[in-house]
Amino acid sequence: MSVAAGDRIEVGGESVSAAHFIGGERVGSGESFTTISPIDQRELGRVADAGPGEVDRAVRAAEGAFDDWAALGPDGRAGYLRRLADLIEQNVGRLAPVECTDMAMLLRSLEARVIARAALNYRFYADLAAAYEERDWRSRGTWNRVQRMPAGPAAVITPWNAPFMLSTWKTAPALAAGCTVVLKPAEWSPLSCSLLADLTVEAGFPPGVFNVLQGLGSTTGAELVSHPGIRRISFTGSVPTARRIGVSAAERVVPFTAELGGKNPFLVFADADLDAAAAKAAGQYDDSGQVCLSGTRILVEESVMDEFLERFEHHAAEHVLGDPREERTTVSPMIHPDHLARVEGFVERAREAGDEIVTGGSRAAGGGLFFEPTLIRPASNDSEIVQSEVFGPVLCIQGFSDEEEAVSLANSTEYGLSGIIYTGSMGRADRVGRAIRAGTVWVNCFLVRDLSAPFGGARSSGIGREGGDYALDFYSDLKTLQILEGSTG
Ligand code: NAD
Repeated sequence: MSVAAGDRIEVGGESVSAAHFIGGERVGSGESFTTISPIDQRELGRVADAGPGEVDRAVRAAEGAFDDWAALGPDGRAGYLRRLADLIEQNVGRLAPVECTDMAMLLRSLEARVIARAALNYRFYADLAAAYEERDWRSRGTWNRVQRMPAGPAAVITPWNAPFMLSTWKTAPALAAGCTVVLKPAEWSPLSCSLLADLTVEAGFPPGVFNVLQGLGSTTGAELVSHPGIRRISFTGSVPTARRIGVSAAERVVPFTAELGGKNPFLVFADADLDAAAAKAAGQYDDSGQVCLSGTRILVEESVMDEFLERFEHHAAEHVLGDPREERTTVSPMIHPDHLARVEGFVERAREAGDEIVTGGSRAAGGGLFFEPTLIRPASNDSEIVQSEVFGPVLCIQGFSDEEEAVSLANSTEYGLSGIIYTGSMGRADRVGRAIRAGTVWVNCFLVRDLSAPFGGARSSGIGREGGDYALDFYSDLKTLQILEGSTG
């Protein structure tokens, strides 16, 4: 079924374009896919599904706009990014209900925190790129100078969880560095990025600088990352997809970053504030556990296991499953029936393998895309439920006897995205924090982030780093200019 350039979808009280956004215009497609709302599984509408022709048109639009955008320099581009940040803030009341209806993230989190953070991404990178000082030094009779050259059109591919925030997290540094962008959001939550395209028009972005292609990963996504006009690929999603994109990138020698999944350890030592630790551990069920950074392996010092479990169960019982638009809800529905079935499959296999289901373990009564907040005590550290990312409201709990065993368990999966440590000892925080192989380790806190810090994963959790200057360097070709001293007067 086709989607015309003017087709729109009514969602969250807003009318959102169902078409692509290419070269400053809405563009339809001969093919389309359905997007549903996880809240009630209602079909929201059909969204354009880009074939090779539209992918090519989008990349050519990004190529055509590149030279002028790059020539503006960081100061010239900063004004556009700041205007976009202002517009995002002014449109929280439109963006939040769209994202909530399309993806089921809690409305109050979107309104109070997530959309504001998306705006901050553009403002932060506008300032940071403009503040770049070319490094200058003398050596071996020459002047050395390091310059950033915008790399070219960038393909930005984002996952279905937190689609708006993650798209801004990636496109902000790309645009600030002077790249033009083709953004492909995930097919399970495509609508908020369509609104973002409208805001770039209002912010006055030149046509072709910011493009949105809607479509399926295996076709549109694969076509986009293998297009010869793409000079950078920034991907957030799963490990299997990253492997495929990596092959494409390698074939054309295109740098790519990959922010991938995790099976993150949440360590609780006996000297910790146990109630704070238990409350934060129970908070890992937020967003139905569909958060890459969640601490899903709760590792507790044996001597305090009973007390911790009692406190954890108390906090977990406070969760309210429900409609993400309601104030009292803390756990929202899962994104899609297929994903719910996948999560259920993990728990069924754990049960069959002899892992103990301590709490939960089933779809929630009353229907809807809910899985009960579930705690599992695995029979072995090799259990699938310990080693694989579930991406749902399913936590494992395991004991350890000392620091050495805690670190060994923490580092015992293929992943290395994040780690969380609860301890009252600075020495332990430092020792264990250093020993954990992960891109980010939080001590006595969770999800606090400074945008200038590097962000990414170790081992199978990713390639490269985003955040701060790390992202600006990725979207640039760094050049060394070397001038023979005294040769230029
Ligand atoms: P996914 O890999 O299935 O899809 C991610 C994106 O890639 C989608 O837009 C999809 O359409 C696209 N895609 C799929 N196949 C493609 C291909 N062959 N070529 C190009 N693009 C393709 O992941 P998902 O299920 O959408 O997201 C969940 C995963 O994302 C989890 O593993 C989660 O941990 C991870 N994640 C990581 C972070 C992080 O910052 N590290 C953040 C959020 C989510």
